[in-house]
Amino acid sequence: MDLQTPIKDAGRLYKMYSRRLEKLGIKTVEDFLYHTPFRYEDYSLVSKIKDVQPGEIVTIQGTIAEIKNQYTHRFRTLQRAKVEDQTGTIDITWFNQPFLLKTLRIGEKVSLSGKIELFAKKLVLQSPEYEIINGETIHTGRLVPVYPETRGVSSKWLRRQVATILQEQKESISEYIPYSIIKSVDLIELLDAFEQIHFPKSLDLTKKSRQRLSFDELFLIHLAALTRRKIWEKNLKGYPFSISKFKKNIQAFWQKLPFELTQAQKRAVREIFADLASKKPMNRLLEGDVGSGKTVVSAIAMFLAHLNGFQSVLMAPTEILAQQHYHTISKLLTPFGVRVVLVTGSKKFKIGKGTTSTTGITGTTGIKKFARDTRGTFDTRDAFPFDILIGTHAVLSEKIEFEGLGLVVIDEQQRFGVEQRAIIRSKGKNPHLLTMTATPIPRTVALTLYGDLDLSFLDEMPKGRKLVKTWLVPLEKREAAYEWIKKQIAKGDQVFIICPFIEESESMQTVKAATVEFSRLKKAVFSNLTLGLLHGKLKSKEKDKVLQEFRNGEIDILVATPVVEVGIDIPNATIILIEAAERFGLAQLHQLRGRVGRGDKQSYCLLFTESKSEHTRKRLKAMEAMHVGAQLAELDLKLRGAGELYGTKQHGVQELKIASFSDFALIEKTRREAEKIFPNLSQHPLLEKKLKSMTVQDVSPD
Ligand code: ADP
Ligand code: MG
Repeated sequence: MDLQTPIKDAGRLYKMYSRRLEKLGIKTVEDFLYHTPFRYEDYSLVSKIKDVQPGEIVTIQGTIAEIKNQYTHRFRTLQRAKVEDQTGTIDITWFNQPFLLKTLRIGEKVSLSGKIELFAKKLVLQSPEYEIINGETIHTGRLVPVYPETRGVSSKWLRRQVATILQEQKESISEYIPYSIIKSVDLIELLDAFEQIHFPKSLDLTKKSRQRLSFDELFLIHLAALTRRKIWEKNLKGYPFSISKFKKNIQAFWQKLPFELTQAQKRAVREIFADLASKKPMNRLLEGDVGSGKTVVSAIAMFLAHLNGFQSVLMAPTEILAQQHYHTISKLLTPFGVRVVLVTGSKKFKIGKGTTSTTGITGTTGIKKFARDTRGTFDTRDAFPFDILIGTHAVLSEKIEFEGLGLVVIDEQQRFGVEQRAIIRSKGKNPHLLTMTATPIPRTVALTLYGDLDLSFLDEMPKGRKLVKTWLVPLEKREAAYEWIKKQIAKGDQVFIICPFIEESESMQTVKAATVEFSRLKKAVFSNLTLGLLHGKLKSKEKDKVLQEFRNGEIDILVATPVVEVGIDIPNATIILIEAAERFGLAQLHQLRGRVGRGDKQSYCLLFTESKSEHTRKRLKAMEAMHVGAQLAELDLKLRGAGELYGTKQHGVQELKIASFSDFALIEKTRREAEKIFPNLSQHPLLEKKLKSMTVQDVSPD
């Protein structure tokens, strides 16, 4: 058994616990060491029995002079003991732990930590932590670690495992960080860090240990990213696109655009063009708040691919988004003779003989051609010649053949798994890759998480965009808010009402909640208005219909679940009302808010919460004043902690075990150090090995 041994293979005991340990993220023996305490019990005050005072938390060490079970009422027992040291004797009691008599026998030397109480004028040590003295104590007489626990895995049990592993594996905990870095960054050594984070001599040392382990975690993430980048860069056989040959076409595209690009968009286009013109396949992430105009940037890239004789594919996480992209991109590019085709719902590909359903695929030239296809077999290439294919994960279908795929665009990339991203790229020979995200990750954090990618930020909103006026509505103003909404609708506005967030994926429960709210609003609140309901369990035709009606202004209020809405673009919608706002992260709320404020009319966001917590109200209040996604994400980091950076668990976003994404200074420092050492990585075999062991885990499908 060594540190890398999987828990399942580390003996009967661990095997038995493996499920539970996995819940705590402990999959190998080493993971025990990285399962760090969230606080410490201070039992470091070791007192003589004669000195203890009522109310004190102390450790006493002595010999068991007496111990017995005493039966109280039904089924209840009391364990009473007397412990003595050179200075005196004290009474100890425990409740309902009869097995103690087997462990703590008379004459045994013990260490006990707990609170001294006064009962009937006598001092008693009440339900103390206990252990038999046998070398160094781990549960008493010191700063005692308290760990995140799970059913059947107590801190006491974890402490014992960690202590054993630290002792038995001491030799194999080797320092893999080069000494020069240890010195220049002023880190404590790895073994010290493990010892002092679990069994600290002082709280100060726990801080130093945490710093050291945080450094390692971020440092390795950087190095892993740099490694991925290097592998990508080896992959030199991409197809450089010509730009100069198509200056006129590109010019024509710009001229036909109904708006001028923002400076940020122009910069992103320049960066993307430079990538596309290079022999190395592009690997770029475009990050920008909702509404910052990522679609048009991707459109020009796909146009350039087309001009160069290549196909493009744009993959989006939801049908609604795919449809919307289809409309936008078609409008922008069909005038230039680009054939755009939409694919959604992978099931629809099982088209056999005699079936002439064309649902699931729409395109300017595709449908006619399909009707003429009488062979009964389905060949996408013949049936649907396209230059740009837009769709959900349906674009991954084996049935779709590409003819020279030159550019892959992935919208909301974090919603796709590593594998899906790999499959779509494998459809071409080293196609250029553009990924996009509206997840407002602070720049520093993005550079860590996506250190292998080139990054473009759209940190500027299109001109004339007004800030969305945001209010946290007090409980008693709900009715008034509804009345105000009615007035606004009378003036021609349209409204989104977002139902409470229940869980990550659209479950029947979420759908039911939305349906109930929809009926309530329709009957009791907005009976004279037209309401629509949108959720992920609707058939795509129905979704399409509802959205189309909303877009056409036939629906006044669209009641929607939070999952379904990502990325919808309806300029005439100017009010968004969010129920149970406290369930969302600020960055998520900001994304929801981005559904409105897309046209030139003043837009509004009303936040509702039943929460009475002062902290929650303060957090939500921040939405009234702050309007930049990355800033809100940063604030959320500070208020809710790193675990909550993205509000909900999302694919592809790495979670940190020890370090915090809010520690920007450390993130910067580790990046500098990683970049410095990376070119000479091979000179540090231990570091290289550590990195490999980590990257292997990284690549496993999530
Ligand atoms: P997102 O970054 O959220 O994907 P979209 O690409 O959907 O944003 O763009 C949001 C809206 O802004 C669209 O209606 C789009 O036509 C419009 N838009 C994009 N760029 C500009 C610009 N430079 N000036 C004005 N409007 C723009
Ligand atoms: Mg978008």
